[in-house]
Order: sequence, then structure tokens, then C-alpha cells
Amino acid sequence: MKHKLLNIIAIVAVAITAAFAIYMKGNCMKTELGYFPQNALENATPRVNAAIDTARARVDELAAIPDKTYMNFVRPLMDADAALNDVWLPMNHLDSVMHSDETKKIMGEILPLLAAYSTDMSQHKGVYEGYKYIKEHEYDSLDAAQKKLIDDTIRNFEISGINLPKDKQARLKEIDIEQTKLSNDFTNNLIAANKNFKIKITDEKLLGNMPESDRAAAKVNGESGAPEHSEGGWEFSLLDSFYGPFMTYVTDRNLRKQMHDARFARAPENAAIISRKLELREESAKILGYKDYASLVFEVRVAPSPDAAKKFLSHLRDLAKPMADRDRAELAARAAADNVTDFAPYDAAFYMRLVRQEQYELDESIAREYFELNATVTGMFDIIEEMFDVKFAERKVPLWHGDAKYYDVIQDGNVIAGFFTDWTTRESKMPGAWMSGFSDHYVDANGVRHLPRIYNVGNFSPAADGTSLLTLDNVRTMFHEMGHGLHGLLSKVDELGLSGTGVERDVVELPSTFLEYFWNSPVVLKRIGRHYKTGKQMPDELIEKIVRADNFMKGTDIVWRTSYALFDMEIHTRHGLKFADVQKLFDTIALPAGAITPGTTYDRPVTAFMHPFAHAYAAGYYSYLWAEQMAADAYMAFDGNPFNKELARKYRDTILAGGGAKKMDELYREFLGRDPNPESILKIYGLK
Ligand SMILES: [Zn+2]
Repeated sequence: MKHKLLNIIAIVAVAITAAFAIYMKGNCMKTELGYFPQNALENATPRVNAAIDTARARVDELAAIPDKTYMNFVRPLMDADAALNDVWLPMNHLDSVMHSDETKKIMGEILPLLAAYSTDMSQHKGVYEGYKYIKEHEYDSLDAAQKKLIDDTIRNFEISGINLPKDKQARLKEIDIEQTKLSNDFTNNLIAANKNFKIKITDEKLLGNMPESDRAAAKVNGESGAPEHSEGGWEFSLLDSFYGPFMTYVTDRNLRKQMHDARFARAPENAAIISRKLELREESAKILGYKDYASLVFEVRVAPSPDAAKKFLSHLRDLAKPMADRDRAELAARAAADNVTDFAPYDAAFYMRLVRQEQYELDESIAREYFELNATVTGMFDIIEEMFDVKFAERKVPLWHGDAKYYDVIQDGNVIAGFFTDWTTRESKMPGAWMSGFSDHYVDANGVRHLPRIYNVGNFSPAADGTSLLTLDNVRTMFHEMGHGLHGLLSKVDELGLSGTGVERDVVELPSTFLEYFWNSPVVLKRIGRHYKTGKQMPDELIEKIVRADNFMKGTDIVWRTSYALFDMEIHTRHGLKFADVQKLFDTIALPAGAITPGTTYDRPVTAFMHPFAHAYAAGYYSYLWAEQMAADAYMAFDGNPFNKELARKYRDTILAGGGAKKMDELYREFLGRDPNPESILKIYGLK
């Protein structure tokens, strides 16, 4: 979705745990917290190779210790991981924010090395036996986080097949390798399909009210030399950044239909990949003794079972359906006023914009003038400082790009974390926005506390004069990523791997969604909305419009998200599905009858659904909504006022500080003294 938290780091680092650590030595600490290695790419592959060799040797040495204890075995294993992460995470970061042929080559070389290391560690019998020894001999004297780490690790070994006979283990490894290749092929097919289809427009009138920035991105340069470009014009591919503006603004229905049909016919070769992936997943579940693939992955989730997730999703969808029907009727009525009597999916984005503008009278170009990037960041920090009693102090340090910034995070006069930001877009940056880190909070084998070094990255566009005025969606995204950021920054967990965002996948979006909810509460808008030229506070009338417009198409949004999630759950709880069966389920479950797309990102065939087939979200798309029901309830407890300090600090000290040291439902009970109320999310979406 909006961030890259569960990206390649998390996928590769199954056994590498979280992140790289930094020593805190007396007064050197502040300098080192803001440190970013300027020579991170030098001699990259040999250094990663050497670091892996060192880690392997260290792990083998630790596995051979006779009288293992938590402190002489588990913590040193964490240190070995941290040392390895120290070497490669800055490379990985540069590949995402300063992408080049060099970084691409380096990643191509090091990711297979890291994956091999990770696989070997997940099958390391000596380490597994070591954890079991500690469970037998020392468990009762460990604290809750340490107990959870021991239990989680033993479980992870077991669901990786550590106790299976050699031939079955070998088969699992083969499946793993084939799955990785298939995911990669799935993505590459989609990338090619997105680029290869293009519609060119030469008559400017057809672009309608398309904003200048979108036109500029699609502009074909008549002087570029290519004969097909000699007449100039605008060219649109199926990539989201072109497809969105095209479907929203292009006035010719027939062109929109062509574009829409092409988008839904993308990457047909992924059909075979989907069949094969499902077959392999079923095989691995069977080898490991689970009735289906969903049951296997639910071993590492907070949601109790696939059935519980399905029930939750169906209930939400049923409640949202009448709202979605009303949304559709509203758009169709507006289209009819233009003499469009056969309202179709390719009209949805076009009329959504019109209805939104006409009904809510919200002119986004005016709203943007109140969200200059730097002022918005300062405003957001201001809110967070008051909520959680921390301070952000910028400090100039050498980083990877002039747009990047560094802040010391201070609590009770002590620096507790380092925060890096890099918000503006550039060609060398991967698209989207994300949170990740160079290191998590933990205590090493020598009892030295390592502080978190976390970053947020975005792709917000600067205007022609260099001033970046954020869209409303940008502001929302910034709050979302900052929510993840705080999860890392304010962690107090001593065990690497359980710290910060080291939580189960279906609750990792809780802190991000929680903070995101606040972005447009009137008290927050009043505080952060300042006109970039006059410095004047945002007028109440505009605040009201922003708040009202946010409710637009909420029912439709829920219907789509629940439908995709139900489809994902269905295909991972059935047996022997071939692609034709998958397509049938997709048509009946994921493409809800009569509903319209809430936004162009939902315009996709099953062959372009990356979450379950290219990313690690198989039987996991429900996670966003599962976390959101908790986030919604936490938000409702504040009753629109982020400055309820007692409550905010309780949230900080339980949900944020606690990371994965306890299961999230336990932390939640510590926060509010009760379980989340399932009605809260319904209320937020106006379903109750
Ligand atoms: Zn997120």
C-alpha cells in the first residue's frame, strides 16, 4: 500500500531479524545516531560476502556452546544479525532512494546471498536446539518479551520444517526457490504490460481539466527525434501515474473504454503463474501438516483463524453494500445529466471527480496552498510532541541527498532515537512512501543499549518554483508513515526482532492507521494548515469542506477492500484450484456485482493482483482492515482530540513502546483495559 515496510528487507530477513545497531558510547552518541555511511556502496558485494561469512562463523560458534543461556546465546545471535544488517541495509536504502545502475547491480548480487543465508539460518538445527535448551532450562526466569522471542523462534523453525526428514526439507527449499522466481516473474510481466500499452492524444481538448503536472508528465517531446513523436502530444501508459489522470480527466468515453479494457487485460501470462503458485502453496502446507495454506500462515498472525477473518470481512462488506449502491446511483445520476445513460466502470473516476467537486465544493488546488511541505512537517511534529511528550530537533549531518533531513528525538532531556526524512520526489527514487530503519531499539550481549534509527520516505512533488505544496492525500500519507515511524522511534523493547514494527503482520498497520485518522480532525487542521504565502490559518469553511469530502465514496471503498480480501482468503482455503476456478472466484467475489471502483488502483484483473501473488500477503490482504478495526477503536477513544495527554501517553507506553514483545491484543488491553470494540470501525465509516 502506501509504504514499503514489509518490503524486501522483511522478506529476505526472515532469520536476519530486524536491523543494524549503533553503539551508544558516552557523548559520542548523538553524532553516531545521525550517522549515514557515505561510502555505503564501496566494495559492496565483497563486504556483504565477508559479513555473511562472519555471521555464519559466529552462529556456528554459538551453536556449539555447551551451557547455553539467554545472555550467552540469544543476545549474541542478535548481535550477529545486527552486524550483518549494519553492512547491507544502507545499500538497500540507497537502492530505493538513489536508485542507479550501480545500486541495481549490487542488489542483484547481494539479495541472493542474503536469501541463502536466511534460508540456511531458518534450517539451522544447532540454533533450533539451542533455543529449545533455553526453553527447557531458563524459560521461567525470563521476562515476557524474552519468553515470546523464544516461543516465536521455536515456532518459526518448526513451521519452516526443521523437524521433517531431509527429503521433505529439500522439497520445501525447492518450493521456496521456485516461489521466489515466480513472484519475480509475476512482477516483471506486470511491469512490462504497464509500459507496453499506450494511448496517445494529440488533441489537447480531450485532456479536459487535467492538471498541468499530469500533462507535463505525459507530454511527448516533438523534438526528441523519434518519428512517431514528431507531432508531439501526450502519451499515457497503464502505469498508475498515467492511468489515474487519464481515467479521471479524458473527456472521450471511447478512449477511456479502450484504456480500461487494456488495463483489465494486463499480463495474461500471469495466469499460469497463479495456478502454479497455488499448487506449490498447497503442497508446502501439506508437507508441514496444515489443512490449507491459510491455516499455515495464520500461525504467525494475531487474527485467530482464517474463518474469523472471513467472518469479519463478510460482515463489513454486507454493511457497506447499501452505501456502495448509493454511491453508484449518485454517480450514474450525474452521468445521466450529461446524457450518459449507460454508466460504465470506465466512467467512474471521471464522474467521481465531478461529483466530489460539485457536491463538496472542495477545490484541491486551493487546499494545497495551506500545506507547504516544511510547514506541514513542522506542524505534524508539533502535534506529536504534544501528544507523546517528545521533541524533534533537527541536526545537520551528511546524508544521501540534499533533500534528506535528520532529527534527534528527545524525551525527558535524553536523545532516545534518530529520525531521517526524505519526502520529495526525484527520478532516482522508487515510487510510493514508506517507513523503515537502519536499526531498532535493543540491548546487546554486553548490556549496551542501541537506539532506533528510523526513516520515512515519500514522493511529494515540488511546484515549479521549488515550493512543495502537498495534496490532501500527501498529508494523509505523511501522517500514515509517521505513525509507522513512531512505532520504531518510541520502542522500548530490549529484544531485537520484537522491537518497533517487529509485530505480527495483521497488526503492523495499527499505529500508522491510528495516526492517519488524525490528519484531518479539525483541531489538527487548525494547527497545521497555514497559507504558504500569507501564513494565515486555514479558514473554518475550508476545514469543514475537507472533513466532509473525506466521507466521499466510503461505502464503495470498504466493499472493494473487503472483496479483494475475501477473494484472497478463499483461494488460500480451497484445494486443487486451477486458474479458471481462480478467475471465477475473482469475478464473483472480488469484483462485487454492481459496485463501481472507488479509485483507479482497484482497476485490475486477477493477473495484476500483486499482494497475494508477488508480495508476501497471501491470505494476508485482510491485514489492513484487521489492524484498522483496532486503530479505529483507539482513535475513537480520543474522541477527536489528540491532546488528551493521559490517553496519548498510555498509547505511547503500551502500543508504541511494546512492539512485538507481547501480542498486540494483550498490549491493547493494557492500553484501554478492554478489547477493541468491533463497532468502532463501522462508526468511522458511517456504517453504524
Ligand atoms: Zn502502512
